[in-house]
Amino acid sequence: MSVQVSVRRVASYDTDLTVELRKLLAPLGGMRAFVNPGEKVLLKPNLLGPFAPESAVTTHPAVVEAAARLVLEAGGRCFVGDSSGCGSRDSVLRATGIGEVIRRLRLEWADLDTPADYEFANVRVARKIRLGAPLAQMNKIINLPKAKTHVQMVATGAMKNLYGYLPGTSKSEYHYRLKTREWLAELQLDLAVALPPVLNIMDAITAMEGEGPSGGTPRQLGFLAASVETVALDVVTFRAMNLDPEQIPLLAAAKRRPFGTTDPDAIELIGATPEELRCPDFRPIRQLGSPLRLLPLPQSMLDFVQRRWKAVPHIDTEKCIRCMRCRDGCPVRPPAIDPERAAVADPALCIKCYCCHEFCPVKAISVNPTFLERFLLTPRLRTLAARLAGKIKA
Ligand code: SF4
Ligand code: SF4
Repeated sequence: MSVQVSVRRVASYDTDLTVELRKLLAPLGGMRAFVNPGEKVLLKPNLLGPFAPESAVTTHPAVVEAAARLVLEAGGRCFVGDSSGCGSRDSVLRATGIGEVIRRLRLEWADLDTPADYEFANVRVARKIRLGAPLAQMNKIINLPKAKTHVQMVATGAMKNLYGYLPGTSKSEYHYRLKTREWLAELQLDLAVALPPVLNIMDAITAMEGEGPSGGTPRQLGFLAASVETVALDVVTFRAMNLDPEQIPLLAAAKRRPFGTTDPDAIELIGATPEELRCPDFRPIRQLGSPLRLLPLPQSMLDFVQRRWKAVPHIDTEKCIRCMRCRDGCPVRPPAIDPERAAVADPALCIKCYCCHEFCPVKAISVNPTFLERFLLTPRLRTLAARLAGKIKA
């Protein structure tokens, strides 16, 4: 049986999103199919940091509000929670508009920065892991991701949003420990396996293109989408962003394991066709994965080469406001980036996780591809590598 993804075209956040969300969820059974009276329900938006709603970095407060209204209507006890990558809780709630939603609807805040130890049997990387304590107290989790590009993971959607289960700086620590995006994808996949949301609602009314997840530019996609399955929802959303699913480490990890529905033909799209959703000139990040990984080389060798050819972050000193979020959030010790010391990250220390780029509030950090990277990413070389990989596998 194919998995369903329901889609609803919505032109703007000024529309009555409670009405739109009700229509979006109707083919899936409505919110009452997911929430029973008296249940504790966590709404998990993307609250990366203290960014305004119009910057398209975080899930729009109008989407969170509409979801909360439907949870309350169904009789649920509604919590909102995330562990932001940067900024204090108060600054994040104020800037994103989520604090106002919580206050107006009298919702409760679930502080995912408070850690607790968890143990899971059915995962690869995260058997014993520290996650936000409130997760264990919830009856249901509803995932409210934002559709965005991502300099490290190519794109971020429903699965990547669950990385916010990890409290505070442990997100950066895992960047340091796991080093490559392939391993990070495995960890993020573990979270979707271990604590799967009952429902996922994608905010793709205004997405982010270019150098996401915070340094890109808002781009109208004009839809909301919902599914019980994180993977299928990401497949539909990323195809609408005109991205190649093969280039997205999380979808590649899901396909390898296997977990969820990565085959677009096995997804029943309700409310629109893939062609109607597709944005043909959507601007991806400048550095899509290396064609090297298509070759049948040992992973350790690929990791070594990729770590060396990828770009180190540069700081635009004119734009920099010396907030030090990049230095404080860098998982390397001593930090590989320090605006008071140099305008470029230390290449000997930097692990190319790009957390600094993610945290910068004024887009002062760039990760322009190196000459070697640009060379490796030429379409001709990419096609050649794909052919070669195909030949060798055959
Ligand atoms: S400088 Fe930036 S990219 Fe390099 S390790 Fe630190 S946070 Fe990651
Ligand atoms: S580069 Fe960005 S994050 Fe780093 S200190 Fe400057 S403004 Fe802050």
